[in-house]
Amino acid sequence: MTEVEISRLLAGLPLPAMLISDGERVQACNAQALALLGEGIVGRHPAIAVRAPGVLEAIGRVGPETPPQEARMSLRREGQEQVFQVTVSSLREGLVLCVFRDVTEEEKAGEMRRDFVANVSHELRTPLTALMGFIETLKHAAKDDPKAREVFLGIMEAEAGRMNRLVRDLLQLSRVEAEERVRPKEPVALKPLLEGVISSLRGVAEKTGDRVELVGDPVTVPGDRDQLVQVFTNLVENALKYGRAGQVVRVSLSPEETVRGPAVRVEVADEGEGIDPVHLPRLTERFYRVDTHRSREMGGTGLGLAIVKHIVSRHRGWLRVESVVGEGSRFSVILPLG
Ligand code: ADP
Repeated sequence: MTEVEISRLLAGLPLPAMLISDGERVQACNAQALALLGEGIVGRHPAIAVRAPGVLEAIGRVGPETPPQEARMSLRREGQEQVFQVTVSSLREGLVLCVFRDVTEEEKAGEMRRDFVANVSHELRTPLTALMGFIETLKHAAKDDPKAREVFLGIMEAEAGRMNRLVRDLLQLSRVEAEERVRPKEPVALKPLLEGVISSLRGVAEKTGDRVELVGDPVTVPGDRDQLVQVFTNLVENALKYGRAGQVVRVSLSPEETVRGPAVRVEVADEGEGIDPVHLPRLTERFYRVDTHRSREMGGTGLGLAIVKHIVSRHRGWLRVESVVGEGSRFSVILPLG
């Protein structure tokens, strides 16, 4: 191949690519490879261009008789760790082609999936272990003790309820995720919807002597009614759960201008202990809790805000959280009108 043919071939590849001759000289690179590995690597030793031992070994190992070799390479670019899958293949004796594919996102997605499975297993195992312990006790030690049986059955009911809520929230989350690309269009009148949510939580509010107030003018948004009920139920429930006993939870509707045009802001403000700013960026992650023990005690699954975030994003809206420690938190959902 002539120099011109080689450079045309490399330019035609949609990924960073580099050609090495005799294992010790970078013969040619396309523009993406220069951007990735540094200008001025042509003519230098491959170890100057690629510092990953695995890739250099693959370059040394591959030959006309061997199949293409795969190796991994990590790079720090603009403060971010990037991972590349490098395919090293021999074109002919003494001529090796390296093609780099960015697999950072795939790696991250894989890691998130593994974390998620580990979290779900852990969350399910805790109540399951308790249930199994109590079943064992009821079969033996507490067999003929009706009083103990009553107590243990109560705890078992609570633990089974916890598993049930967790499975319900997991299913809800996966449903919302599956539909996230389709923007809902049904006209939803928000004020009556919020009134419904508030009245369905009256029992919860009464337990702690809280009052929930609703202010603002009626407004209709394109949306999915059931999912919006879910969003505001989660937010008002959290305000009641993590608020101060006897507080007033304020739910308000107000107009808002956004980059996507006119919108409505629904704010849920409590008078609770507030959330330290360090937690705010991670609050909507699945299973993220500020105080795991407290959340569990309140019957929380740690999935409520993750569900809220996905539903709001399906509505092309925004979730904003502001909080002052010691004073309270404000969760706002901004929904576009058009
Ligand atoms: P949970 O089931 O634990 O309530 P969420 O996803 O609804 O899960 O909320 C995640 C965490 O955010 C909670 O565990 C709690 O620590 C915190 N949080 C949510 N809402 C509030 C609030 N109104 N005030 C204080 N903390 C809150």
